[in-house]
Amino acid sequence: MGSFEEVVIVGGGIAGLATAVALKRVGVRSLVLERSHELRATGGSIGLFANAWRALEAIGVADKLRVVHRKVLLETLAEELPSDAIRFSSKLDSIKEEIIDRSSVYTLRFEDGSTIRAKVVIGCDGVHSVVAQWLGLTAAVRSGRSAVRAIAVFPNGHGFENEFQQFLGDGKRAGIVPLTDKELYWAIAHTSLPPEMEMVRDPESIQKLVIENLAKGFPQEYMDVVRHTDPTTITWAPLMFRYPWDLLIGRTWRGCVTVAGDAMHPMTPDLGQGGCTALEDAVVLARNIASSRSSSDGFEKAIEGYVKERRVRVAGIIAGAYLSGWAQQGGIGWWGGVVGRFVRDHIFYRFVFKRLAKVSEFDCGRLTCE
Ligand SMILES: Cc1cc2nc3c(=O)[nH]c(=O)nc-3n(C[C@H](O)[C@H](O)[C@H](O)COP(=O)(O)OP(=O)(O)OC[C@H]3O[C@@H](n4cnc5c(N)ncnc54)[C@H](O)[C@@H]3O)c2cc1C
Repeated sequence: MGSFEEVVIVGGGIAGLATAVALKRVGVRSLVLERSHELRATGGSIGLFANAWRALEAIGVADKLRVVHRKVLLETLAEELPSDAIRFSSKLDSIKEEIIDRSSVYTLRFEDGSTIRAKVVIGCDGVHSVVAQWLGLTAAVRSGRSAVRAIAVFPNGHGFENEFQQFLGDGKRAGIVPLTDKELYWAIAHTSLPPEMEMVRDPESIQKLVIENLAKGFPQEYMDVVRHTDPTTITWAPLMFRYPWDLLIGRTWRGCVTVAGDAMHPMTPDLGQGGCTALEDAVVLARNIASSRSSSDGFEKAIEGYVKERRVRVAGIIAGAYLSGWAQQGGIGWWGGVVGRFVRDHIFYRFVFKRLAKVSEFDCGRLTCE
């Protein structure tokens, strides 16, 4: 029989590590089980808005971060945890519930055949979450768009102003954000290509495809950035999301099992909120656990409270992000024509986008430290 842990977190990405740090802050020990053999920072960099910085402040790491390389964010979170709080090479395969002394105990079985029993399971295992599937949530779906992203390195300095630059084309939208004097984050979202074309995985081929096809027609300065890509940071993936109504009416928790981050609310990146809301989840979950802990059914109540607090907000953000991507990335049906562009540039950007972007003003509150 496997070891017993009170709280197990499946997945050591932003959501999983932030949840473990937030729980530690309120005096609850947890074990993070990550399938990779080390911290995995896909996508190079991440944009963190005000809501994310508030969450990072609540868990006590905001002042330790300056540049938001994903790797730096993950390492900063991991450094807050005891060395035995993350177990790598632990890919969850299945969950089984048993009732022991009228309480549920969950047995987690891993790919290598090992098991762990736990009282509470928090699935932070990303868009293809095994925990979400066990709960009965419907799978995330493809949005019809894909994105390539990476970090470009200019050893002698890139010379760009420290601001976000956007490039729009038919069915595509690209951006550049300076990270330091020498590094820039770049991304391009485009209407998905046939699946066999998107099987390409080697960095040089992806970079070539961006220059020769996806970013064709964009200014030379954008192409130059793509040419300076650090190949170890490049990724290309379809943009997925969960239907918002699945969060409103679907099973986002069962007993003492729930999900957070992309496992709960995968969304398209058009409002830059996936990681930010994962950080909010961590704070809200830890606060609910801290306040219900003294009652006999504490964990169950806490998880129900967490889901009720989160689901309307994140369902709204999924819908807003999808709308934002659809409106901005012209070229889809009639929207790609002159009328669509006029509506995008003069109505969507002036009125709608500003309202959608207000989601980042949210304050998830504080944690009382133990
Ligand atoms: C193009 C693009 C740009 C984006 N830009 C932004 C942005 O600017 N700002 C922002 O806030 N968000 C952004 N996002 C969204 C953000 O990347 C995600 O929302 C965020 O990474 C989610 O973190 P997570 O921890 O929930 O999931 P993940 O980062 O996917 O982490 C899940 C972890 O679980 C592990 N895992 C998976 N399955 C198992 C298993 N069975 N057993 C054990 N471990 C498992 C994985 O190895 C991984 O480490 C962007 C997304 C894309 C695609």
